[in-house]
Amino acid sequence: MLIYGDHSALPNMMSRGIKKSMSFFHANQREVLNQNLAELQGQINVSFEFFPPRSNEMEQTLWQSIDRLSELKPTFVSVTYGANSGDRKRTHSVIKDIKERTDLDATPHLTCIDATPQELQAIAWNYWLIGIRHIVALRGDLPPGSGRPSMYGADLVALLKTVGDFDISVAAYPEMHPEARSAQSDLLNLKRKVDAGASRAITQFFFDVENYLRFRDRCVAAGIDTEIVPGIFPVSNFRQLKHFASVTNVKVPNWMTAMFDGLEHDLETQKMVGASIAMDMVKILSREGIKDFHFYTLNRAELTYAICHTLGVRPRDRDKDHSPR
Ligand SMILES: Cc1cc2nc3c(=O)[nH]c(=O)nc-3n(C[C@H](O)[C@H](O)[C@H](O)COP(=O)(O)OP(=O)(O)OC[C@H]3O[C@@H](n4cnc5c(N)ncnc54)[C@H](O)[C@@H]3O)c2cc1C
Repeated sequence: MLIYGDHSALPNMMSRGIKKSMSFFHANQREVLNQNLAELQGQINVSFEFFPPRSNEMEQTLWQSIDRLSELKPTFVSVTYGANSGDRKRTHSVIKDIKERTDLDATPHLTCIDATPQELQAIAWNYWLIGIRHIVALRGDLPPGSGRPSMYGADLVALLKTVGDFDISVAAYPEMHPEARSAQSDLLNLKRKVDAGASRAITQFFFDVENYLRFRDRCVAAGIDTEIVPGIFPVSNFRQLKHFASVTNVKVPNWMTAMFDGLEHDLETQKMVGASIAMDMVKILSREGIKDFHFYTLNRAELTYAICHTLGVRPRDRDKDHSPR
């Protein structure tokens, strides 16, 4: 049988036959992925990340998005914590509003740079008093030129556990945190955070699905037994994505650059392309057994809602299959 060698020597008919069977192969793969999703109806859990709005207009957009996405009964919705004190107060007030106005599990992010342990304990205690039981615990980005921080993510996890028995999520980096000495030391850091009491890790956004799957395997091998929830970033503006990726050490594959090429002034089409990329990713990840997905919504509902729909996360299924959380 001709396996190796110069395929251009194949008779035309035969090469057409190979092309035909390759396309059957891909069509079959797609069939399998879609079939798998159909079988997962009601088993997928989603969570959504928002950021505190800085204007009345942004606040309206945020609430429209929260209202729309809350129909999907997310496991939790989280609100990021900014580096300056104004943003920090806003996180608290958005969390309080979500808690009061909805039945969602409102989850604040909290960073430990730029705050004393006493201040962090006070913030955590205030959250505990208003009924918050889940926190995303982070170190936060270091201001340029700053020295070695006095606290890391693992220290914050331990501190929070002294305040109350919070459910704690931490950050994980399939493509390595930009400051990490090596992939292995970064993995050991994640293990320290889990050993300190974190019950789940949410990843930095990524586009290399295989690399995420390898990272998940390495976590298991290192004894990290929590969910490594993929952070999905539905791209709606490729230029903005390139900026985020450059500061977070995330690879933007060449095929993605090619897909967005020529759409610089066409944000509507960019959204469709972004949704299609994210839908492909979640299909493959769900096929690999991932049941929890965290979406970086950038306070917009449309793309995230569409991707969740693809995953079979729909209002009627949630009502049927899930008792209120
Ligand atoms: C899901 C998610 C949500 C986020 N939300 C926010 C947010 O709301 N607000 C915000 O400001 N930022 C946020 N970030 C960004 C995050 O704060 C930064 O990536 C930050 O630089 C690292 O935070 P961390 O908790 O992962 O830090 P850590 O786990 O402390 O790790 C930071 C770096 O230090 C290294 N390290 C850890 N311990 C030690 C040690 N003892 N000695 C030497 N090196 C060590 C690690 O390997 C890593 O390179 C988020 C990131 C993710 C993935």
